[in-house]
Amino acid sequence: MRSEKTLYRVVSTGDSLAPEAMKLLEGTCRVVFAGPYPEPSRLAHLVRQEKAQGLILRTGKATAEVIQASPDLKIVAKHGVGFDSIDVAAATARRIPVLISASANFESVAEHALGLMISLARDIPRMDGRMHQGFWDKTQARGVELFRKTLGLIGFGRIGRRVSQLVAPLQMRILISDPYIPQESIPAEIRRVSQLESLLKEADIVSLHCPLTEETRNLIGNKELGTMKKTAFLINTARGGVVDEEALIAALREGEIAGAGLDTFTKEPPDDLRRLCEAGKLVLTPHIAASTDAAFTRMGVEAVQNTLTVLEGRLPDKNSMANPEILETKG
Ligand code: NAD
Repeated sequence: MRSEKTLYRVVSTGDSLAPEAMKLLEGTCRVVFAGPYPEPSRLAHLVRQEKAQGLILRTGKATAEVIQASPDLKIVAKHGVGFDSIDVAAATARRIPVLISASANFESVAEHALGLMISLARDIPRMDGRMHQGFWDKTQARGVELFRKTLGLIGFGRIGRRVSQLVAPLQMRILISDPYIPQESIPAEIRRVSQLESLLKEADIVSLHCPLTEETRNLIGNKELGTMKKTAFLINTARGGVVDEEALIAALREGEIAGAGLDTFTKEPPDDLRRLCEAGKLVLTPHIAASTDAAFTRMGVEAVQNTLTVLEGRLPDKNSMANPEILETKG
C-alpha cells in the first residue's frame, strides 16, 4: 500500500466507476470525481487544482483547456471507445497517450443495435405502450420479418463485425462500407461496396458503426437518406454527428425512409426531443447501448488498468491508443 503522499492523482468524470475498477484504484490512486457531463472549464479547474496525473473520461469533454490544465498529466483514459470527445491533437502535442477501453463494450453495443432493429421491425415499443393503455391491436399489426433481408453496415470494426455475427441465424445478406479494413479480414459471405451509394440503395436496414471524424460528420444527410429504400430503417448506435439530424427529421416526415432506431444524438441530451419524436417512426434510447453491468465493469477496469500502465511507466497497448504515433517519435 502506498502512503497518501505517493498515491497517483486521478480525476474522473461521472460519479463513480464499477466496484471492480474502484478496487483497482484502492492503494494506488486518489480519485476525485467531477460528476456527469462537467463543463470543460469546471473539469479543467478540477484537473488543475488536483495537479492530476491521470484523467478518466466517462462523460463530458477533454478539451485542450482540460488537457493543458495540469503540468503533471500523463494519461487520458476513455471509459469506452469513442474518443471524439477528446482533443487528441492537444494530448499528442504534450505526448500524452489517449487510451480507449478497446474490448470493453462491443458485445453490448452490437446486441443493442440488434435490439433496435427488431424493435423497429416489429413495432415492439409502440405495441407495448398500447397494451399498457389497455388496447389489443392484433388485427392491425403488420411487422417486417428480418429473415434474408439485406443489412448494410457502415463501419466493420469491433461492433459492426459483432452485429454481422449476431444476425447470422437470420441469414441476412450483409453489405459493408469500410474503406480502412484489409480485404482479407472480411468473411467471404460478406460483400464490401466501394461506393456508399450502392449499400444505401440495396439495404433494408442501414446500421452505423463508424467513429465520428471530420470525414464521417453528417455522412448520412439529405442525399443519402433520399437514396435509401422507402421501406428501410436506419440504426445509429455510433455517434449522433454521423447523421444530419435535420435531414433525418425531414426524411421521416416525408416518408423517405420507414423509421430509425437511435441511441446517439447530435446534442446529448437533445434540445428539442419532441420535434424529433414527432417526425415519424422512431425507437429512441438515451445513449445506453454500452450500459450493461458487464460492459460497465469492463470499461471501468480497462480505463483504470490503462491509467496505471502509463503512470507506472509501462508501455501502453498500441491497439488501444488513439495517438499511437507518440510511441514512434522521440519527444
Ligand atoms: P472500431 O474502431 O473497432 O471500428 C470502427 C470502424 O469504422 C473501423 O473498422 C474503421 O475502419 C471504420 N471507419 C472509419 N471511417 C469510416 C468511414 N468513413 N466509413 C466507413 N467506415 C469507417 O470501433 P468500434 O468499437 O466498432 O466502435 C465504433 C463506434 O461506435 C465508436 O467509434 C463509437 O463512436 C461508437 N460507440 C458507441 C457506443 C454507444 O454507447 N452507443 C459505445 C461504443 C462505441
